[in-house]
Amino acid sequence: MNAIASEPLLKVRELKKGFPVTKGIFRRQVGLVKAVDGVSFDLLPGETISLVGESGCGKTTTGRAILQLIKPNSGEVQFRGKDLTKLDANELREMRRHMQIIFQDPFSSLNPRQTVGEIIGGPMILHGICEAGEVDDQVRDLLLKVGLQPSYISRYPHEFSGGQRQRIGIARAIALRPDFIVCDEAVSALDVSVQAQIINLLLDLKDEFGLSYLFIAHDLSVVRHISDRIAVMYLGRIVEFAESDALFEKPFHPYTQALLSAVPHANPAKRKKRIILPGDVPSPINPPSGCHFHTRCPVAEPRCRTESPEVHDLGNGHRVQCHLYENNTELVQIGQ
Ligand code: SF4
Repeated sequence: MNAIASEPLLKVRELKKGFPVTKGIFRRQVGLVKAVDGVSFDLLPGETISLVGESGCGKTTTGRAILQLIKPNSGEVQFRGKDLTKLDANELREMRRHMQIIFQDPFSSLNPRQTVGEIIGGPMILHGICEAGEVDDQVRDLLLKVGLQPSYISRYPHEFSGGQRQRIGIARAIALRPDFIVCDEAVSALDVSVQAQIINLLLDLKDEFGLSYLFIAHDLSVVRHISDRIAVMYLGRIVEFAESDALFEKPFHPYTQALLSAVPHANPAKRKKRIILPGDVPSPINPPSGCHFHTRCPVAEPRCRTESPEVHDLGNGHRVQCHLYENNTELVQIGQ
């Protein structure tokens, strides 16, 4: 699943998004939820990067801030050579054709009053992908590509199962011939067997249309086979970033080690001892000082409470944000 070119399709730099916390009838701001706190990465053409982490780590906000569905507070999002954060509404509307999103809940993301033909075909006419006279044929082709019968074109969303609805959402996303799709927990609400079918479909479509994906998921076992690279997020920051196989073989960050220890392995010899972290994920309204993870880290040092760690490059693009690797590229295994 190697990427097919080296010039990034998408460059994200120091992306930040906070949501004000207000109180009282005058809605006085009393805090800020730092949902995304300086996220940076490049996505290559034809590549899939997965953003993973527990609920509330900022992965969904990152995906939406990249697409400008919510306006980031600061940072750059370079896509097809343009900084999306600086585009006006018309320029952004034009650019949206090239970047799409598949949502977690296929039912609430499909208009219940529209037929499948209208849901998929409407945006195609709007963006000039095809003429009104040929749209039905194109929608039928798309339905076939996503594994649905062309005759479903005149049905409504409530007539389908969850997996079928997600296929309709995928057909809608690829209808505009995008380069880039954010899959926001796209398989999380589906049964395990249906998850595998949808992932295989996404992989087939990626090859056929030359797509790049940002795949957002809380379940690491789901992302292994779809990802070229994986970014692990904790409280708004990417704490580890590596090629998929490298991350699963040798996770360096203590948080990644704990997450991976919970992933079942088919080979009993390779099963890892489960690492149970103390406490819950702290509130992003007032994240811990220094390293955000220090309140749960089994190997925290005194400096972790006060000093935010730098990102350290361990080679081959494997990056980790942890003091343990300041002058050290050897793995520090926790929970032994
Ligand atoms: Fe743990 Fe310190 Fe590394 Fe944070 S910087 S993960 S607290 S060792």
